[in-house]
Amino acid sequence: MLTMQIVLLKQLFKRAFTNKFPVKHAPDSVTKLLGEVEKGEKELNPPVPVEKDYRGKIMYHRDRCIGCQLCTKVCPAEAVVFQPSTKKITYHVFRCTFCGECVKICPVRALEFTPEFLLADYKRK
Ligand code: SF4
Ligand code: SF4
Repeated sequence: MLTMQIVLLKQLFKRAFTNKFPVKHAPDSVTKLLGEVEKGEKELNPPVPVEKDYRGKIMYHRDRCIGCQLCTKVCPAEAVVFQPSTKKITYHVFRCTFCGECVKICPVRALEFTPEFLLADYKRK
């Protein structure tokens, strides 16, 4: 217990490990803050570059897809659904766990990770 308290106390004086949310990506409603930035009263938190191989939102290259359905078979979250009428897939980001199985198995690189980390939205689709 004492060891834990010592560790916690030490951490108080170290730098934070979290990155501040970059103002550039703040929602439109944050106008006051942006106004202060314009006047030079506040500084922008510059976007922090994501790591190489970061697993962000998946990009689906529809034109490359050959409709083999391998991605639908390996997806543990049923986030990839095959559309028989078009022989293409639909990717549901809200179900995705970013495990990367579909990206690995796709034979034509029709699925790839992007650095996009802003996934919240008002609409499910
Ligand atoms: S990354 Fe994983 S969970 Fe997301 S669509 Fe691909 S296989 Fe499914
Ligand atoms: S694995 Fe690739 S080519 Fe096959 S259906 Fe999925 S996205 Fe299309």
